[in-house]
Amino acid sequence: MKKVFVRFAALFLAAAICVCGTWTVSAASSNRMVRVGLAYGSGALVNANLENNTGYGSGYRFGYYDDSLNFVELGRTSQSQTALTMIKTQNTWVLKNGSSYTYSNSDNGGSLIGCYHIQMPGSYSDYSSASAAAAGYSDGFVAWIDGEYQVRTGAYATKEDAQAALGGGEGTVVGTSSYGVNVTATGSTQILFQFDGGSARALGIMPDVTGAGTVRTWFKGYRYYGGFRYERINGGNLTVVNIVDMETYIKGVVPYEMSNSWPLEALKAQAICARSYAYNNIQQNKHKSYHFDVCNTTDCQVYCGAGSNSSSYQANARTDQAVEATAGQYGWYDGSVIEAYYSASHGGASESVANVWGSSLSTYPYLCGVTDPYEADMADKNSYSSWTVSYTTAQLTSRLQSKGYGVGTSVSSLTLTYSDLGNVIAVKVNFENGKSNTFKPTTIRSVFGVSSIRFNVNGQGAGSGSSSGSGSASGNLPVNGSGSLSDQDSYSVISGSGSISSVQRDDLYAISGSGAVDKVDSQNSSGGGSGTPSGTTVQVSGSSYSFNGSGNGHQLGMSQWGAYAMANRGYTYDEIIEFYYPGTYVK
Ligand SMILES: [Zn+2]
Repeated sequence: MKKVFVRFAALFLAAAICVCGTWTVSAASSNRMVRVGLAYGSGALVNANLENNTGYGSGYRFGYYDDSLNFVELGRTSQSQTALTMIKTQNTWVLKNGSSYTYSNSDNGGSLIGCYHIQMPGSYSDYSSASAAAAGYSDGFVAWIDGEYQVRTGAYATKEDAQAALGGGEGTVVGTSSYGVNVTATGSTQILFQFDGGSARALGIMPDVTGAGTVRTWFKGYRYYGGFRYERINGGNLTVVNIVDMETYIKGVVPYEMSNSWPLEALKAQAICARSYAYNNIQQNKHKSYHFDVCNTTDCQVYCGAGSNSSSYQANARTDQAVEATAGQYGWYDGSVIEAYYSASHGGASESVANVWGSSLSTYPYLCGVTDPYEADMADKNSYSSWTVSYTTAQLTSRLQSKGYGVGTSVSSLTLTYSDLGNVIAVKVNFENGKSNTFKPTTIRSVFGVSSIRFNVNGQGAGSGSSSGSGSASGNLPVNGSGSLSDQDSYSVISGSGSISSVQRDDLYAISGSGAVDKVDSQNSSGGGSGTPSGTTVQVSGSSYSFNGSGNGHQLGMSQWGAYAMANRGYTYDEIIEFYYPGTYVK
C-alpha cells in the first residue's frame, strides 16, 4: 500500500521528534543490551540462587555492569563452584529443608551469616592479591567496597560478637551500607565475595570461567543466557535482572508466546511481533523505577530464557532459527516501529483499535482490523474456534450485581452493537427498572465471562440486526461504476489522475450542501452521531442468554492461530505481518 509522500515525511518527522532515550529509529536494528526484570517489587528476593546448567559453563565471575552495560569483572570463583546464593548483607539464617535451603532474615533455626565482620588492615590493588591474603584465614573473604579490595573475616550477628572475636587481635569491626550484597556458596554460611558499591553500582554476576561457547544458568526453574544483576533498590530485597542482547532476549520470548512446534514462518512472524513490541516497551521505559527495561511477565512479554526442562516449554532449534532468520527486523509503518499487539485467536476478524481501546486510528493506522479468512483452517486444533457461555436471566443478573450493576432489579434485555467487521463493540444491558449499563470491549470479556468480543447471543448477531448507519454495513463503495473500493475502516480519496490513497478518519472533514464544514467523528463515521458506536444493533431478551462465539484475546493485530494457518498455506512471515497490520512492512 503506497502512501502519499508528504504524509509519510510528516509522520516520520513526528516519530523522530518523539523518540526519547538513547535508542533512535535508525538504531532500532542494533543488537542493544536489554535489562529484563526477573524478580522485583514485592517479588524482590531475600536470597537469589544461581546454578550452572551442566555442560554450559562452570564457575562464576563477580563484578558490576557499567553505564553502557558492559560487564566489569572484579573477581571469580574456581571452576568447581557450581551453585551460588546472593543475599543481602543483613543477618541471614540458612536452614536445610530436604534437598533445598530456606533463607530468612529472622532466625529460622538455621545457621547464621551475620552482618558484622573483622576487616584486616590494608587494602589490595587487585582480586588475586586480596584473594591470596584472604586464604590465610579460615573464614576470610574478599570484599569490594566502593572501589577498594579488602580482606574481611567472620560473619557475626552483632558488633559485640565481632568485637569479642577480635579480642586484642589486629583489624577493625565493620559492617556494610544498606546496598551491600554477599555472594555465598548455596547452602553454606561461607561468604565467597562481598560487594558494596553504594546506590551507584549493583553486583553483577557473569556465569562461567572456562570460556564455554554457550553459557546457560538456572534461576528459579528456567535456564538463562547472559549475566545477572542484584540490586538493593533503596536498601530493600534483591531485584534480580538478566542482562542479555536484544536477539537473545527475543529467543527467550518467542517459545513462550507461541508453541515451539508451530510452523517456522509463524514463529518468524511471532519474532517480528515480539521484537517490535519490545522496542516500544523499552521506549516507554515503564519499569525505570526498578532500573530495568522490560519485565518477564505478560505485562511486557513472557520471557523464560532457554526455558525449563519440559520439552514443550523451552526454546528449541526451530524457535532459535525463527529469531536468527529475522535478526534485527521489525514491523514498520511510515518510519516508526509498530505497536505489534497480538492475541491467540480472533475467531474470524480482528477489530479496530478505535473500537477496542478508543485509541486514535491515526496513531495506529495498522491496527484497523481485518477480516481473517485463514484462522478457520485451524478450527480442529484451536480450542477457542468455538465456545459457548450460557446464563439464565437470574444468573446473568446475579453476575452483574456482583460487579455492582443492576442492584435491586434484573436484566430485561441486551442490546448488542456490532462493528463492520462483525465484532461486538458495545453491550447495553437493559434492566427491568428502566435503567441500563453499557459495556465497551475493554470490559465486555470480563463482565460477561467470554473470551473474545466475537459472539452472538441466543443466535442473534451481526447478520440479524438493523444498521443504524447511513451507509452500507459492509463499507464497500462503487468506483468508476465498475470497480469496488473495499475499505472498511478508513476513507480513501481518488485524485484527478485516478490514483487512490487512504485518508484517516481523524483527518477527515465533510462539506455539506449548505457549505458548512464539519470534522467527521472518528468514532461514529457511519453516521450514528448519538455518542454510542454505530453499526448493526440487535436486541436480545429471553429467560436465558447463550453467548456463542469464537476467538480468544483482545482482537488487535496478529492472530497467532491465523499466523499458523497462513504459514500452512505457504505464506511467508512478512506476508503474515503485512496482512494483520495493513500498510506495514518488515525491514
Ligand atoms: Zn512489564
